[in-house]
Amino acid sequence: MTETFDLTVIGAGPSGSTLAIALARHGLNVMLVDKGDLRCFKVGEFLPGKTRHTINRHRLMPVDWSTAHTEVYEFLNAWTQPTPIVRDFIYDPFGLPLALDRSFFERQLVEAASYAGVTVKLSTRISVEKRSSTWNIALKNKFGTSFAKTHFLVFCGGRNSSNRFDSQRSLTDKMAFIGFRSPCEEEHGPPSLEAIESGWVYSTVIKPNELIVYLVTDGDLLFGNEISRKHNFVSFLNRIESTTIAASRSEKITCNGNSVSLFGGALTSFISTKINGSGWCLAGDEAKCFDPLSSMGLSESIDNSLWLAHLISTSKTFPNLNLKNYQDKTLEIYKEYETNRLLIYSQEKRWPNSFFWKRRQTTEALTAIK
Ligand SMILES: Cc1cc2nc3c(=O)[nH]c(=O)nc-3n(C[C@H](O)[C@H](O)[C@H](O)COP(=O)(O)OP(=O)(O)OC[C@H]3O[C@@H](n4cnc5c(N)ncnc54)[C@H](O)[C@@H]3O)c2cc1C
Repeated sequence: MTETFDLTVIGAGPSGSTLAIALARHGLNVMLVDKGDLRCFKVGEFLPGKTRHTINRHRLMPVDWSTAHTEVYEFLNAWTQPTPIVRDFIYDPFGLPLALDRSFFERQLVEAASYAGVTVKLSTRISVEKRSSTWNIALKNKFGTSFAKTHFLVFCGGRNSSNRFDSQRSLTDKMAFIGFRSPCEEEHGPPSLEAIESGWVYSTVIKPNELIVYLVTDGDLLFGNEISRKHNFVSFLNRIESTTIAASRSEKITCNGNSVSLFGGALTSFISTKINGSGWCLAGDEAKCFDPLSSMGLSESIDNSLWLAHLISTSKTFPNLNLKNYQDKTLEIYKEYETNRLLIYSQEKRWPNSFFWKRRQTTEALTAIK
């Protein structure tokens, strides 16, 4: 017999799993589907103390979940000046941030979803078709195809998923990132952020002793350019003169053997023009996607999913939902982010002729926020 779910979540990243856990605890019959197995390396590891607190307060995972990750006591920031400023988190009222092992974190959340009663399907491709008030679902994995039905769909497929139905993406910026990860034996110091002439560089160490360094820049500088090769990228970091953080971290890295691996991709920041329709809505990065400079991605994904779960579970008309507040609030948060982002990029005045900085400090944009 074909099983019917109250709600199906597509994408088991932080937003999808959080939503599934919260809805299952409210008594809904939920299915969570991901096309991957959550074992690949994933970038995006800085979890603010406030979000760690939110996860604990809502008991999203067992109490000891955070011991698998690295506590961050301080952060080096070389933005607008070459000498890094140390930001100390010891007095943060929410507690210390974490440098996450991202794929492990996601598996922890999925395990919690399963424990909460969610039907989890990993390594599964999904296709959906609307039939009057329900969706017909086909689930395909290496064992074959199975079918299900659901009353409501939430798309949590992240920044790289394609547009859903008639929703478009309104872009704020389009950049690219390239980075390497490498085993590290030694103490590499706290995470760091430093502005350079062609963008900015972030570096951190995660458990178990892995160094991650990546550059955010313009795609036209990166693609087809020599720095997108492993050796060249490491020597590019070694040549950076603005500060010494990235250089001091990369100088010990040799590119012999396969221990250093490169990663990268497009980096867009956008809001979806329509985030809900009849029987569906978007959440997490699919709804609004931030520049990683803001460190808002994980916190917004988790907060947003908890709020959406509350709206869905308290609705008396489910699956016919009025999500106008959800759409309005999403837009409000995004506008605030756009303003802050512009102000932060505009503070960096050291390279007035750099394309990277000029593109992010346009007079029109600055006038618009005044
Ligand atoms: C370079 C970089 C650095 C970042 N650094 C940080 C940081 O330090 N701190 C921070 O807070 N945020 C950071 N972010 C942002 C953060 O990673 C995202 O905001 C967060 O992952 C969003 O969670 P999500 O669940 O919405 O999407 P994702 O984490 O992208 O998860 C989406 C999931 O959906 C699955 N999926 C996609 N399509 C389908 C489909 N058709 N069917 C089934 N499954 C599907 C994918 O396999 C994936 O598992 C960074 C992002 C980038 C790119």
